[in-house]
Amino acid sequence: MIAALQQKAILGTSKRHMAILVCGILGLGLITVAGNVQASALHAAAHDVRHANGFACH
Ligand SMILES: [Zn+2]
Repeated sequence: MIAALQQKAILGTSKRHMAILVCGILGLGLITVAGNVQASALHAAAHDVRHANGFACH
């Protein structure tokens, strides 16, 4: 009984740690990309997405 509860607690903790790890990696990746990619490349990518989705542009 106690062992099962401990097992459950350990599993819950590792899932939470996994979620924190994944979010941290995603966040760091976002900051790295936003900080290091050339602004013109970001602009071109956003522009392409706008055209691909049929938004009015130029
Ligand atoms: Zn355009």
